[in-house]
Amino acid sequence: MSSLPETPGIQAKASPVAHGRQPDLFKSIVESLAVPLYRVDRSGALTYANARMLELLGRPLHEAIGLRASELYPAALALAYTEDDQQVMDSGLPLSRLQDYREPATGTFRQVWVSKSPVRDQQGHVVGLQGLFDDISEHLQSLHAFQLANRVLDSTQQALMITDTEGRIVRVNAAFESITGWSAPEVLGKTPQLLSSGQHSREFYQRMWEALLAQGHWEGELLNRRRDGSLFTEHISISCLRDDSDHPSHYVALFSDISDRKAAQEEIQHLAQHDALTGLPNRLLLTDRLQQAISQAERSGQRVALLFMDLDRFKEVNDVHGHQMGDLLLKQAAERIRHTLRGSDTVARLGGDEFVALLPDLHSPEEALVVGENLRQALYQPFEIGGHSLQLSASIGIASFPDDSADADDLMRCADLAMYEAKAAGRNRVQYFREELDVRARSAAQMESELRRALHERELFLEFQPQIDLATGAVASIEALVRWQHPRQGRVEPLTFIRHAEESRLIRPIGEQILDLACSARAKLRRQLPENVPIAINLSARQLSDPRFLDAFQETIERHALPGTQVELELTESALIEEMDAARNVLQRLRLLGVKVAVDDFGTGYSNLALLHRLPLSRIKIDRSFVMDLDSRRSALAIFRAICAMAHSLGLHVVAEGVEQVEQLEVIRSLGCDAAQGYALARPMDLPALQRWLKKRARSAPPKP
Ligand code: C2E
Ligand code: CA
Ligand code: CA
Repeated sequence: MSSLPETPGIQAKASPVAHGRQPDLFKSIVESLAVPLYRVDRSGALTYANARMLELLGRPLHEAIGLRASELYPAALALAYTEDDQQVMDSGLPLSRLQDYREPATGTFRQVWVSKSPVRDQQGHVVGLQGLFDDISEHLQSLHAFQLANRVLDSTQQALMITDTEGRIVRVNAAFESITGWSAPEVLGKTPQLLSSGQHSREFYQRMWEALLAQGHWEGELLNRRRDGSLFTEHISISCLRDDSDHPSHYVALFSDISDRKAAQEEIQHLAQHDALTGLPNRLLLTDRLQQAISQAERSGQRVALLFMDLDRFKEVNDVHGHQMGDLLLKQAAERIRHTLRGSDTVARLGGDEFVALLPDLHSPEEALVVGENLRQALYQPFEIGGHSLQLSASIGIASFPDDSADADDLMRCADLAMYEAKAAGRNRVQYFREELDVRARSAAQMESELRRALHERELFLEFQPQIDLATGAVASIEALVRWQHPRQGRVEPLTFIRHAEESRLIRPIGEQILDLACSARAKLRRQLPENVPIAINLSARQLSDPRFLDAFQETIERHALPGTQVELELTESALIEEMDAARNVLQRLRLLGVKVAVDDFGTGYSNLALLHRLPLSRIKIDRSFVMDLDSRRSALAIFRAICAMAHSLGLHVVAEGVEQVEQLEVIRSLGCDAAQGYALARPMDLPALQRWLKKRARSAPPKP
């Protein structure tokens, strides 16, 4: 029977190793083992336990010996042990297993590796068993932690690559494999060089390493190459790991493929900076490039030119042929402009039919003129679109840095002004920016802001000029004429500011104020004027085309309790013809209100009574220039007579404007004129003066019946 060496209290019946000094040696080895070791007999009673085992059992040897599992361990564990023991002793075969276990002494949970093997006597009969445990709790814990870490790393979307300090790859994860196309076995031991795209400079990597060594961390974007050769952009963060003695031991790189995001960003960027129709850069990108070009030209001492191009009468193409044709034409125009320029030039579309060319490196302003002329000619060639041949032209304005301005925005403004000048000079031409254009534009801008103030401070006021019926001598109408009491310049005449008001669109609010003043004046004259005498108010074309005009008009006359019959509106021929559609509409509604409409300055525009007769009009006012010519030009008499005859045949009254001499009154009356207005009869005057004038007339010269 096999037995362990003699120990105190253990009676070994026989010892297979009891030769010479050996038992002592074994005993001391076994006793000093850090592994718990024990023996039980067939009945399961403990026959031996080494020092470590006794420590675990928490009992001295003399107490432990002879005890069974049920006396040594908690019930469940004891049962498991006894079953295992029985199996070993019955089968005579060793058994090893992992056993969960709580230390009897401390209650600590442990995982132990238990090995049990049968003990036989000399005949080979199983007389007991010996067992040993190995506490592997800590190994298992770190193994689990390791497995968990691996699972985490393999499940993240971020690619992981760990290198040692020699730059050899020691670990990659699943995301690395799927992003780069390289498998772990292919890359382990290699360097990250195999991902290099060759797109970054040596300095780039140098800076990266400097940061990594200095701060222990680097983060940024890298363009790398996949296994199949394709490129991808990654966002990568690299950290340096240090060992216990603070020396770098590994580099850990985490990266994700941002190629898609990058592509989407680039797409958005492109859309934001280009015109959808022509694909040309838009204002945003142009401004950007202009700024760049200017700062570069500042360094190189060269010139930058901007060419503003506006297609002449493009609106007509849209109106006549439709927007689709208009779009096709713009595309072709864009193509021509692009072909006329060099690759380093930029051509942008600002919207509508406005294009801008940016020439970044010129030696002289004249070079820009040559390009401008080429562009003008290119755009003057007929366009073939949808079976139509369309002849267009362009007005081109040029401004250059540093000659005209050193500021990008200002340069754009200068080129724009020059373009308007080209249009005003008759279109289809190239115009270089001139200083005077700027002065004019600045004074227009100043005028606008002053008019705005005039409107708010109510600096505008009216004067009134009567029109006299030539047959009866009665007041036929009273025209309201606006004036401006400027705080510094004093009185300003309408001819100097009405045009600015029209161009800046301030004419609408100003017109409303004038209407209000005029209606208020007419209401004050209620007792002095017969009911049928209207106040005549001048209206601009811009007011006529304002969709809110009618409502505002109606609201104003109602507020002053004026019947429509006491208002007359004066519109020039050109305003009526330019806004024919709006005019017909508005005039019909005005007629329903009883409002009269007069054609002002007749004879200076198209003089087309045939066109005008379709509108509901009441009077025409023959322009002052015809009255002035009456003395000197025979033909003036004939024209005058013809206009009167024609007007009468259309049922319209005729008023002669600007009659300065009393003698003229009889002449125009004989020519068929119904009424007259002018200094010969009365000058424009303010309301109190008009009231005095009316009073005096009523006393001295009662109107003829
Ligand atoms: P208009 O409508 O033809 O007005 C007649 C102009 O001739 C007035 O000049 C008037 O003062 C002037 N005038 C009257 N009789 C004589 C005369 O015998 N000899 C001469 N040489 N001139 C005479 P004003 O007031 O300077 O107005 C000029 C223009 O300004 C007006 O021409 C009209 O087109 C515009 N205007 C005046 N007031 C208004 C207004 O309230 N609104 C708008 N939109 N335009 C106005
Ligand atoms: Ca008038
Ligand atoms: Ca007039």
